[in-house]
Amino acid sequence: MAHESFLAQVDLMFEKAAAHTKHPVGLLSQIKICNSVYHMTFPLKRDDGAIDTIQAYRAEHSHHKLPVKGGIRYASAVNEDEVMALASLMTYKCAIVNVPFGGAKGGVKIDRRKYSEAEIERVTRRYTYELIRKNFIGPGVDVPAPDYGTGPREMAWILDTYNTISSDTLDALACVTGKPVGQGGVRGRTEATGRGVFFGIREACSYADDMAALGLRPGLGDKTVVVQGLGNVGYHAAKFMQEGGATIVALAEYEGAIHNPEGLDVEAVVAHRRATGSILDFPGAQNLERSADALELPCDILIPAALEGQITSDNALCIQAKIIGEAANGPVTAAADAILLEKNVLIIPDVYLNAGGVTVSYFEWLRNLSHVRFGRMSRRFEQSINEKLMRAVEQVTGKRFAPEMFEEVAHGADEVDLVNSGLEETMIDAYGEIRELRKRHGVDLRTAAFINAIDKVAVSYLEMGIFP
Ligand code: GLU
Repeated sequence: MAHESFLAQVDLMFEKAAAHTKHPVGLLSQIKICNSVYHMTFPLKRDDGAIDTIQAYRAEHSHHKLPVKGGIRYASAVNEDEVMALASLMTYKCAIVNVPFGGAKGGVKIDRRKYSEAEIERVTRRYTYELIRKNFIGPGVDVPAPDYGTGPREMAWILDTYNTISSDTLDALACVTGKPVGQGGVRGRTEATGRGVFFGIREACSYADDMAALGLRPGLGDKTVVVQGLGNVGYHAAKFMQEGGATIVALAEYEGAIHNPEGLDVEAVVAHRRATGSILDFPGAQNLERSADALELPCDILIPAALEGQITSDNALCIQAKIIGEAANGPVTAAADAILLEKNVLIIPDVYLNAGGVTVSYFEWLRNLSHVRFGRMSRRFEQSINEKLMRAVEQVTGKRFAPEMFEEVAHGADEVDLVNSGLEETMIDAYGEIRELRKRHGVDLRTAAFINAIDKVAVSYLEMGIFP
């Protein structure tokens, strides 16, 4: 069956939600449209002297707030439609979690497994140089971050290239997020998207009435989970779900999937994959040769954490999960979405669920602009107040705290504690907002999330006086 392009799907989801708002048509199309796309082509000199022509993109979807924000992906399927779709999702995502940025996304069409580290570094530096020349990067303009196929190392190269060329000497650190901690990164950013996925699913599962509507009990303790993708997002989401009490019954990667209804230990699977080069043949688990079959296994929660377009009208009817937690961007097509809703599946949408990454990117950006580590001025003060309180309790009660308990309770908040608490607060608040809109409009969670985003972006435009 022919499928709509990724951008067309995102736009369909937008239209579905826009119908529930009262904004003028012109304003709605301004919100939906992608403002600017830069398509660049540049040469890469391979290690053996051959020349490759590299296609790369940066799409800036909405400038209603600056800077615009979004990751850069390295994948062979990257194209203009995809970066525009992903940039649109970033605008809605930032609005939903109240992060004051517009949306953007970049991509380099490259299969990174076929390139050496030195080649990837050359590509990254050249890509950054192109962005600088066209004013598509800068702390107040456009701030990239990691996405599929990139991580802290690429972000450090971007920063270094920006630092070398740009005349911005004070705030240059804030030109990119997801950097290594020693290069201005914030503690907790690497695991932020996966942790946010966990907070979002835990929150969704905490409502007894919503769970009863699915024939489930509240809480994570009795839930079985399938995760597709063991990259940064999938690995951390699986790990936090397991730590939160859920049972991971299957894990899927591109080489295949493994299934064990008794449960898989995520760390042990990752260690096995590191040692053998594959998740297959994990002790006690059954192999599934076709990775996509894992999506159709019986489970309570399915977490697609790889790429877009994984659940389509071709396999939607075979999905047995009662909850789908979209850790990836766009894993469920618009057609599949309709089929799954018909089957009463609760879809926790990407624009909300994977927003933990950009939320903590926001914290990193703030840290870079303020030039101070979170907690630097308050941690010791907090600790001394806590200690005084505990000593007073000891005096009044005549009893003493055990030393470990004393230390644990008195401990002032470190940077990572503050980051994680800000992330938890963000995910819980945003879920409350979209759940409320879901009820008020009698719609699904994705439509509610889009209504929420559209309303917030509309307010920005109206306040600018552009649409009186
Ligand atoms: N690439 C991530 C996303 O899709 C993070 C973006 C960011 O931190 O700017 O949300």
